[in-house]
Amino acid sequence: MSCIKRESALPSREGAGGNDFNAFSAMQPRTPGAIPADARNGARVKTHNVPPEGVYLPNNNRLAPHMRSPEYVQMSTAAAITLGVMPGTMHRCSCTRCLNLLLTYPEGCRANCAYCGLARHREADRDYADRNFIRVDWPAVPMAEVVDIIARDGDKTPFHRMCISMITHPRSDEDTVSVLKAWTARIDPASLPVSILSNPTTMDRADVALLKDLGADIFTVALDAATPEIFDRTRGKGVDSPHSWSKYWEVLEHARDIFGKERFGAHIIVGMGETEEEVLRLIQRLVDMGGHSHMFCFFPEKGSLMDHLPATPRDQWRRVQLARYLIDYAQVRVEHMRFDDQGRVISFGIPDAALDDIIDKGTAFRTSGCPGKEAADVSACDRPYGDSPPSNVASYPFPLQDVDIRKVRQQLERERPGECYEAGDDLDSANWTKPLAPRIV
Ligand code: SF4
Repeated sequence: MSCIKRESALPSREGAGGNDFNAFSAMQPRTPGAIPADARNGARVKTHNVPPEGVYLPNNNRLAPHMRSPEYVQMSTAAAITLGVMPGTMHRCSCTRCLNLLLTYPEGCRANCAYCGLARHREADRDYADRNFIRVDWPAVPMAEVVDIIARDGDKTPFHRMCISMITHPRSDEDTVSVLKAWTARIDPASLPVSILSNPTTMDRADVALLKDLGADIFTVALDAATPEIFDRTRGKGVDSPHSWSKYWEVLEHARDIFGKERFGAHIIVGMGETEEEVLRLIQRLVDMGGHSHMFCFFPEKGSLMDHLPATPRDQWRRVQLARYLIDYAQVRVEHMRFDDQGRVISFGIPDAALDDIIDKGTAFRTSGCPGKEAADVSACDRPYGDSPPSNVASYPFPLQDVDIRKVRQQLERERPGECYEAGDDLDSANWTKPLAPRIV
């Protein structure tokens, strides 16, 4: 029986530059505008100096209070809902497994990465604590309250991991140590392990070693860009930002030496202008070092310098997700794969039947990141809808069901005879009976 598709069921295949992938030549960030003097360096927040009162939920109609780490940290909307400090539900997720704590200061991050909602140029229009980041708001919570809740819940906590996310700020190194010490004073890192999402620009080898000595379990470096050219264009000189590719690799090598095999990794955003072959060769390099790759699908973050550009087409993303999983967890090497003249994967380097088995398990298409308690290849850091809306999921924050596998197969152009995905099947599936709204979008 053949499968009749409605046109609307087809996911977007249009990438930047008119291709079915986001080409380098078309993924140029826009130039940041000037920042008024009275908005620079968190001046609005510091001048008004409103004292914080407990949990702060971002609200653009209200001046953000004066909050600083290590007393305050921000966390994703999903983490705040799971921790119980804000109300809400998430589409097809009961919780997140990673408590991601982001350092916070009125001055915010002093870097200017083109794809990031926290970037410095946003001082012009939004206080730091009110900025969207990976598509969601980040409530601010007193660190003491976070620790109280986790210590109180003990083994019953839904979280599998905590992650301290550093930003580029003169106090970031010191305050990461303070937050880690506040955590380990009350919570055993053997029962709830800690990851560090580092800021290599301000760190040296001794900083990496200190975090390991204080109980951190995994150390990650957000390379984000897959090539030196994209790195420089999106987070270096191209946008008046302080980061350099060589410094990031230097710290990644410290992490390899100090944290050891399987205990370090790198974040990579797919679809900022690299070819599939380039990003997969980078993933192979990380695996050969003994580490892992944690991938994000490029999404045009509102207010960022790349918000005018298209998200990564789903076929490009699915091929890279699948190939990355094979390299990271199935001992396939990039040299076993074949690519066309545009660098697109045309053979995954394993027999069809084995590839079909891996696709049908679905794990390859889940969010990638530091592991939790479920399995070594399942990330605790599930980042619900951090790189896509629920209507066209890029990284699945939950185990895939049959309807999701059918959608992924369609995106990979590997549908089984007689099976098809219709637009919205996954949103309206009988398997999903809770109200659809409110969702995190
Ligand atoms: S350093 Fe990190 S938080 Fe700061 S602008 Fe760059 S990506 Fe965003």
